[in-house]
Amino acid sequence: MDKEVKLETRIIKNDPSNLFCWKWIRPPTGRTLSELNRLCDLLNGFSYENGETDKWAWNLHPSETFYTSVLTKLLDEKILPNANMSFETARLHLLPQKIGILIWRVMQERIPVRVELDKRGVDMDSVRCPVCDDDIETAEHTFLHCEFAKDIWSRIFRWWGSNRHMYSCLGDMFKGDIGGSKSKLWQSIEWVCGYHIWRNRNLTLFQRKRGNGPMALNEVQIKSFEWISKRVRKCSFEWSQWLINPSSYDDQV
Ligand SMILES: [Zn+2]
Repeated sequence: MDKEVKLETRIIKNDPSNLFCWKWIRPPTGRTLSELNRLCDLLNGFSYENGETDKWAWNLHPSETFYTSVLTKLLDEKILPNANMSFETARLHLLPQKIGILIWRVMQERIPVRVELDKRGVDMDSVRCPVCDDDIETAEHTFLHCEFAKDIWSRIFRWWGSNRHMYSCLGDMFKGDIGGSKSKLWQSIEWVCGYHIWRNRNLTLFQRKRGNGPMALNEVQIKSFEWISKRVRKCSFEWSQWLINPSSYDDQV
């Protein structure tokens, strides 16, 4: 809810001492109070010709009224210029909520890769990718261009039976587009794959345990089967069929 902060003041008509009449929702304290005192010093002795009611105007909004929600939006637009704003929430009924939260953070570029930490002033030895050390670590590198990511994506596409190998940009990922149409099942697999790419990155960085493509594919197959089969009531998933032909379940989720 918008919280309007009234910063209204008026000059008391014909008051020779030029006193202000403040109408605060909350009386200012601390640094705000000292800024207010400085402002009063600046205005001290200023003469108003007609003595009419005066008020503060906030130039960043047409209403000239200050709203915290407007300020928040303006700051977000400045601080997060690359955010994919169409990806406002991320949730798939086939997967645990934690997967959706991770994918949402990736799409909003709010994932703590080294470049982002560096931008926020975190002191690090290096901003290079901890998995391959071939490039600086951005979200796009981690999920798209890193050797580990490229390897697992190509294996996942082959497992699904697609002749595609890679995505062209981060914005193409995690949307469930496959073979010219949308698929909730494929999207779920994409998200599980993204989850494992991030998990592998963290294991490499914090535990010095680096995975490989075949192992990662196997983990995606196991976890996606476990999560999805538990949440789909109308058909039973067979592990052997899942391994050979996952897309055969596409119409049933
Ligand atoms: Zn890398």
